[in-house]
Amino acid sequence: MRHRMNRGSEGRPKPAAPVAINQIYEIEIEGLTHEGEGVGRADGYTLFVSGALPGERVRARVTSVKKSYGHAELVEIVRRSEERVTPPCLIYEECGGCQLQHLDYEAQLRWKRKLVIDNLQRIGKLEVASEPESDDSQSGVIVHPTIGMAQPWRYRNKAVVPIGEREGGLVGGFYAQGSHRIVDMDACLIQDAHNDELIRIVKRIAGELGIPAYRSETHEGLLRHVIVRVGVRSREMMLVLVTNGERLPRTAELVERIREAARVSQPEYELKSICLNVNTKRTSLIFGDETRVLWGSETIEDRIGDIRFAISARSFYQVNPVQTEVLYRKALDYAGLTGSETVIDAYCGIGTISLFLAQQAKRVYGVEIVPEAVEDAKRNAELNGITNAEFAVGLAEELLPRWRAAGIMADVIVVDPPRKGCDRALLDTIIAMRPERVVYVSCNPSTLARDLRVLEDGGFRTVEVQPVDMFPHSGHVECVILMVRKGA
Ligand code: SAH
Repeated sequence: MRHRMNRGSEGRPKPAAPVAINQIYEIEIEGLTHEGEGVGRADGYTLFVSGALPGERVRARVTSVKKSYGHAELVEIVRRSEERVTPPCLIYEECGGCQLQHLDYEAQLRWKRKLVIDNLQRIGKLEVASEPESDDSQSGVIVHPTIGMAQPWRYRNKAVVPIGEREGGLVGGFYAQGSHRIVDMDACLIQDAHNDELIRIVKRIAGELGIPAYRSETHEGLLRHVIVRVGVRSREMMLVLVTNGERLPRTAELVERIREAARVSQPEYELKSICLNVNTKRTSLIFGDETRVLWGSETIEDRIGDIRFAISARSFYQVNPVQTEVLYRKALDYAGLTGSETVIDAYCGIGTISLFLAQQAKRVYGVEIVPEAVEDAKRNAELNGITNAEFAVGLAEELLPRWRAAGIMADVIVVDPPRKGCDRALLDTIIAMRPERVVYVSCNPSTLARDLRVLEDGGFRTVEVQPVDMFPHSGHVECVILMVRKGA
């Protein structure tokens, strides 16, 4: 590749990008990022084109230029992908909450599998079997087709909505791209319709009672966010109001009217908990430290499979209950339990996977950094009469080495880390503990691939990978992986 060279102020040569801002280029789109941007090349220089799909030829205007890549906006589709569909959501482009609605759902599932394979090969340096449903004689990691949803809409059980004000009432929905302006939204096609309805009720009634919305620019006003959660199996609902202040005016009236309106509009669902969370900081974090119950119970219940879960306002709970069950069943299947195993569930949250495993293991130890989640996990064990699961608060990378030193051995270790993946110290401890199996649940294929490489080098073999579509129409990719100890 040849580049013109500029001299920077320090005298070091800097290659100049071969494209110019505002210039229009006609390019072939070859890839797709998880933000839904098409990837193509102009003179060997990488351009990310929002809205363009692989296989398309497009004309795009360059909007920003960096050293090794630039961004461009779609001007015209010269050759259209057969996988392109019309997004059903009318505010799809403005909102930015979904990234793949313009791609046919089956094609989304294929793309997610391919993204996993690319990461395993490129970052994990793993050999991937060419045919997904192969027999054991084939070498390489088996990456199964992504398990999608039969109904990939209205799947989210939780909504988090920023609140703003406009003449005559409150608005709530999403931030217009790249700004703090709140665009009102009455319905979101990936959200449970009962959540949408409860949010509409809260906006209307809080507006009528004159409760002021928070303004981030001036740090004034009161109502920052409305959060609603529904237990799709239990049909219980929770409402959390996040406020910039301890006191909410006309609380009793607000609570009473919201309860009444919810009862009338969706009588088959029960609004069981209304909480207030106080966040007086200038921050983009949603929750503050203090949560109190305004009315009803501190938790709502839901079920995954046969297990009941109590969920409190701030605990992590998977947002797609239908696919969560698919994911956890796969994790349980990969754990290969017979009833005699000791299992460690690092990153256990409120004990969801732990309690699933406990039904078929001798003993399960869960670790989790958030103390409230561990409280929930213990309560959930009790709620289900499960006595062979123990939970501890702490960093997985600190507690596991201590457990190992105390003589605890594990037959199976399950990890389900956040996006940044596992801490190196945890991976080293897993290697030293020599479990027969490692089950890795991942929401980020690139950190997954990095961690699998460490475990491979430490004596484990990656056997199979099952992508599960937890977030249809978004670029997020979730998968569950089985590793076995070499020679076990
Ligand atoms: N397995 C659970 C939670 C997965 S989300 C479920 O499926 O519901 C990841 C969890 O890891 C979060 O609850 C987060 O609080 C916790 N966490 C993050 N870093 C951690 C660390 N270093 N040690 C232990 N837990 C951690």
